[in-house]
Amino acid sequence: MEINGSTQVACLIGHPVSHSFSPYIHHYLIDKYKLNLKYVCFDVAEGQVKEALQGIKALNIIGSNVTIPHKVTVLESLDRVDKNAALIGAVNTIKNESGKLVGYNTDGRGFVKSVIDAGHQIKGKTVMILGAGGASRAISIEMACNGAKTLILRNHTLSKAEAIKEVINANFKQVQVEIGDLEVKEEELKGVDLLINTTPLGMGSNRALCPISEAIVPPSHLVVCDIVYNPQETLLLKWAKHHHLKVVYGVHMLINQAIESFSIWTGIEVQDKGEILELLKEKGVIPS
Ligand code: NAP
Repeated sequence: MEINGSTQVACLIGHPVSHSFSPYIHHYLIDKYKLNLKYVCFDVAEGQVKEALQGIKALNIIGSNVTIPHKVTVLESLDRVDKNAALIGAVNTIKNESGKLVGYNTDGRGFVKSVIDAGHQIKGKTVMILGAGGASRAISIEMACNGAKTLILRNHTLSKAEAIKEVINANFKQVQVEIGDLEVKEEELKGVDLLINTTPLGMGSNRALCPISEAIVPPSHLVVCDIVYNPQETLLLKWAKHHHLKVVYGVHMLINQAIESFSIWTGIEVQDKGEILELLKEKGVIPS
């Protein structure tokens, strides 16, 4: 749609932002739903976050994504923060609600949706999460919120897993949390329903690495998820498929977290995601 006097703006703030693929997804959706809206990326220096948020209010920008390194800093300048985003301690989406800025985190929500869309349940399940960084924290909180029975957090730096355990123990009394190091043994997978990799093992320079030993023979009911999306077929997912397990690809979390943001701003529930997958391949975000 042509820009005119009524065109609205949504944006991304981060530093840097030039590599972002978010404009591809949002402009695809803006065109699909024929909205008079544009999505632009603003490179906001550290120390300028408060001013950027004041700008969002002053210019009546409808909402914003937030990326590295501002996901935590924005918290102090928001008018309200969604409960789970506050527990996660990071915001990746802001909605301008009549001049009040409300913060959300759609990473964990996007991941949960990718699991449910693939036909798997979370309620009552035992979930093992490899890694305890920002993505793990978001996924752990949403897993707890969606009724997981047990969370097993495995990470090299145990203090980070311990910090997630504390926040879940304090806020989701029904969820049992266990922590341990990253060396998963075959017998420890026996009672696990969902295995999720949130470490970068399997991507980029770690492409040749698998977060668990490929010699392990997994239980046949195990569902294996990797949030690494480039490559799509990580060594972990290849191992899972070799053993005929169901898998969930990281690219679906990537698409869902964007769609969730779009939905928060516009109220539109996006159903068909196949074309976005094709778009990301076309743009080289994921391999075709
Ligand atoms: P992060 O906050 O830096 O956390 C990284 C985690 O991986 C930490 O637990 C860290 O362990 C562990 N780790 C890092 N290098 C490792 C290594 N060589 N061996 C073992 N463990 C290692 O990063 P993040 O934001 O959580 O992101 C993690 C991964 O998820 C990245 O690959 C990112 O691309 C991907 N991701 C995907 C999506 C998606 O939409 N699909 C969204 C967000 C992130 P320590 O605590 O011991 O350092």
